Formats: sequence, structure tokens, C-alpha cells
Amino acid sequence: MKHKIKYIFLFIIIILAILGASVYASDNDIVIVLDPGHGGDDPGATNGKYIESEINWKIANYVKEELDKVDGIKTVLTRTKNGNPELAERGLIARNNLADLMISFHINSSDRTTVRGTEVYITCNKNNVRFNEYSYMLGQKILRNLHALGIPYWGGLEPKIKLSTDGEKYLDGSMSDWYGIIRNPMYYGIPSILVEHCFISNRFDLQHISSDANIKKLAMADAKAIIEMAEKFRIDRTNNKLQATVLSVNVSNNKNGNYIYGEISITEKINDMKRNPIELPTVTLKSTDGKISSEIFINYLSGSKYYFDKFIDDLDTNKQYIIEVKSNNKLEKLISNTAKASIASFSSSNSKYKVTTNSNKIKINSNTYVGNINSEIKSLKLGSSNKNAYIYGEIIIVEWVNGKSTVPSAKPIIKLKSTDGKANLPVFVTATGTNTYYFDRFIEGIDTSKQYVLEVSSGSSNNTSKNKTMNVYFKNQNIGNYHDYKLYLNNNQIKFKLNTYVGNINSEIKSLKLGSSNKNAYIYGEIIIVEWVNGKSTVPSAKPIMRLKSTDGKANLPVFVTATGTNTYYFDRFIEGIDTSKQYVLEVSSGSNRNTSKNKTMNVYFKNQNIGKYHSYLINCNNNQIKFTK
Ligand SMILES: [Zn+2]
Repeated sequence: MKHKIKYIFLFIIIILAILGASVYASDNDIVIVLDPGHGGDDPGATNGKYIESEINWKIANYVKEELDKVDGIKTVLTRTKNGNPELAERGLIARNNLADLMISFHINSSDRTTVRGTEVYITCNKNNVRFNEYSYMLGQKILRNLHALGIPYWGGLEPKIKLSTDGEKYLDGSMSDWYGIIRNPMYYGIPSILVEHCFISNRFDLQHISSDANIKKLAMADAKAIIEMAEKFRIDRTNNKLQATVLSVNVSNNKNGNYIYGEISITEKINDMKRNPIELPTVTLKSTDGKISSEIFINYLSGSKYYFDKFIDDLDTNKQYIIEVKSNNKLEKLISNTAKASIASFSSSNSKYKVTTNSNKIKINSNTYVGNINSEIKSLKLGSSNKNAYIYGEIIIVEWVNGKSTVPSAKPIIKLKSTDGKANLPVFVTATGTNTYYFDRFIEGIDTSKQYVLEVSSGSSNNTSKNKTMNVYFKNQNIGNYHDYKLYLNNNQIKFKLNTYVGNINSEIKSLKLGSSNKNAYIYGEIIIVEWVNGKSTVPSAKPIMRLKSTDGKANLPVFVTATGTNTYYFDRFIEGIDTSKQYVLEVSSGSNRNTSKNKTMNVYFKNQNIGKYHSYLINCNNNQIKFTK
């Protein structure tokens, strides 16, 4: 990081030290700075005993004497009798004394000794009436007054301008003046006039500087014009403002950390004049919520530009910042002591930060991801492998990182979790496409009394979405049967519901015969028994129950039943000693406990027929009953 210190600020510090004891004008005085050109070891032009710096000193002092007689005018000299400040320092003296006008006094010279006459240079800047327009009027008066003393005009009757040739510009963007003694005060909004009274190199002009009395006449010509015009140059200092514009913002880093840097233009404005601040302003980075206020390093570059930089590693990246500039101008009142810098749109990033500006605010975002996870289930199915049930399906998973949908930087993690938090089962995940993943999980033996969610989370460790999880949203639907349970999705949960059969029992007798074993008679036969469950004929889920019952309800005899095929059963029942005075039915019922058909019974339908002799009785089936007849 560059911390440039321009020597101009060393000057400012020195000058401020020198001027520490200055007596400032009262608010109403018009301050006119009188600049005796050259001085010290710079004599200016010379001709024998005639030395320009000494003549200039005399003119300036005679002018001062005249102006000091006028109420409301205060004068300041830019140098002592033998001093020779740099031209920039003479401008600062004008600025530090809150000058309204500056006049620089000179005597001309030429190698061509025939050249003679007077000329005045004024500023080229026409952006304020106090500059070119009033300077022109003042210059013209001075020229006329000097001409009245017998000095011819040199190079024309009117004041002249001379433009800078190095492209240097004033803060308003206009071309600057060539003469430093005009340009430097103009940076502070102070018009300055350069008077070349006559030529030291011409024998006719020489008479005008040949005695103090004649020199005084030149000064009187100047002073008369200045006094007439002084009021026009008065600066209204009640409306001073500070203005700041951030010209660039970048982010970089060095061994001490990350920092933002750029250029900022800072000017003071008096009415429609712009000028440079006399002292280095204080620039502060402030959070918009007012919680953070931290000074920014600045250094003068050129024109109205300053370099700035600020370390940002300790700043809260969740906040937005403004740049505030505070004037350190202690010489005069500013209507507002601070200004919020306007900031155009910039964007800059390095490995750690992204800095953007918008609406005069600076946002400093950490490049660590601010993200979230999102998912959309494509399918969820029930499968089984070696009698082990599992759920499986396809899911789309994205990470939202800094506002953008991205492919997860690592394989996402899916868990099957019970809503009570007790079960937390890892799910197998594998990518099948850019954002699509296959997943499966065995559920055999799972606690069917609980409800489950599918939780998706990022597998990434360098992503702030890593701690973000989401439960997958499901469409309400059935996904299959797991044992006696219906597996279904509802309210974004996976739930188990015991299947409640709505069913009935049905049977069809295949044969009914009479047999005997060790003289014990029994009936036996084959029967087809089905359960009708939810409208479908099914194999009974448990062995059906058969009973031989008397129609009066007194006898209720269990019948032996055993399966012989899918829906076929063998049955038998000893009838030895049975009450032959009664009629009997064969009742079939479901043996299932968990089947709503369990309470359903039916009496077997018989074909009318004789099935054999039992002792002295004939057993016949009639009207679906088993009867004994003699
Ligand atoms: Zn000179």
C-alpha cells in the first residue's frame, strides 16, 4: 500500500506554523493580499542600480498605505522586505488570510531596450464573475491610470490572459493560467492580478521608477483602481460547503491484511466557486447504522484528488458503509463541517472480499459463501430385496450460494429422521446427474409407530450452507405396503398406517362325506375358503375356523381344519354321540385377528344330498343343513 506524502502538505504544515499568530480580518473586511514580486536572493529584473524586487516592495507598501486608509479594507503582504516565498506559498498566504483579491506587483524587462509600456495579466477563468470579469475591470482601470502617468500600453489596451501550456486545469475543469502567481490563489478561489508597470530595460520607462515619488505615483494608480473595485471582489463566506466524491474503490491485500483503497475528490465550495481545502480533511468510514466509525488514511495527490486506504478485516461485513469527510478548516466557518461523499458504482474483489458500491454506500462482502440448501423430490418408492424393504428415489439438490443456485460443492447428506428425534438413519446417496441424486435406505424393522422426515444437508465443509438443512417436501401419496402397513407421504412426513381390511369370508364346499374310525363316525370333506378384502378375493391371512353348530344354538362343535392348497382346506369332525334330533350347519369364519373379516361368519351352502348312514339314521343335506332322518 502506498502512503504517498506530497511535499505540498509539508508546505502547508510549515505555513500554518508561520501563520499561527496571524491576526485575521474581521468578518466584514475585504482582504487584499499585496504581493511584491521576487525578493531575497531573487532580484527580478535589474538595470544598473535599478532592482525590480526593491521597486516592487516599494510599490506594494505604498499601495498598502493607501488601502489601509480605507475602512473595511485589510491588506496583507506576501513577503518581508528580504523574503522570497515560493509562488505556491504566496497563494497559501492569500488563502490563509481569507483573501478576497490578490495583486502582484512587477516591473517588466526585455532584451530589446526599445520595448516599453505597461501590461496587466488576469485569470482566464470565467466560471465566476469575480474571476475574469471583475479582474478585467480592475486591470483595465489600472492600465488607464498608469497610462495617464504617461506610460504607453504594451501589447494592447486591455488586460491579457495567458493559458497554461502543460494541460493543468482548475477544479472546475477549466484550463488554468500560466502564471503561478495567478494560478495558485485561484486554486483557493482567489482572483489574482499581475501588474507589469513598465520596462526596467527602457530608458523612457525608467523615469517612472527613478525616484520614490515616481514609484509612489505608480502605486497610487494601482491603489485608486483597487479601492474603486474592492467591493466587487468581496467573498460571501456565509455559505461554505464541503464536497466529496469517491472516484474509485478497490480491494487488495498485503501482509498486514485486506484493505480498500482508491481516490477521493474533496473540495470546499463557496457559492459557485470550488477550491482545495487548506488542511487535510478527516475522512471516516461509517456504518449506516451509526455503530462503526473508523478513520480512513488519506494523502493529497493532485488537483482535488486524494489517495485513501483502509484495512477492512476488522469491519463487520454485514453492514453498509458511507464515507464522511470532515473539514479541518479552522480559519472560517463552513455552513456544514462534514459531507457525505457521493460514490459511483464500483465493484472489486480479491480472494477474500467483494467490495461493491451503490447509492453512495459501500458494501464489503466476505467471499465465504452465504448459502442454503434446497431440494425437490422427483420420486420416492418402496422396494424389497431378500424380503428387506427399502425406500428409494431420486432427488434434485442445489446449494444457494450468495444468491445463486449452484451444484453442491460436495455430495449432499440425506438422513431419515423420526420426528421425535429418536431415529436418525443415514441414507445412501449417489449423484446421477448435475443436480440429481439417487438415494435408498432399508426400512426393514423400522419403528412403524413413528413418523419420519427426509433431511437434506450440504456435505461441504467450506460452505456456510454446511450447517443448513432442509426437510424434503413431499406430495401427499401412498408409496406402497410394508408388511401390514400402508407407507404413505403426508404433510411432508413418511408415515406408516396399519392396513384395516374391509372384508368378508366366502366358501364353497367341494365334498362332504361320512367316514368312521374305530367305530367312531365322522364327517369330512374339502372346502374352498376365501377372504374378500377390500373388494378382492384373497387367501385367508390365517387358517379359517369351522364349526358344526346346531340350528337351536345349543351345540357348537369345533371342526378340524387344515390347508391342502392355496384356498383349499380339508376338514373333519367326529359326530359319534351327536344329538340326532337337531339340525346342524357348518359355519366358516376367518381365523385372522387383524382382519376385519375376523368377525364375519358364513354357513356353508350344501347341495341337497344323502351322505350316508349313521346307525339307524340317514344323514342328508337339505336346505343347507345337515339332518338325521330314520
Ligand atoms: Zn517580475
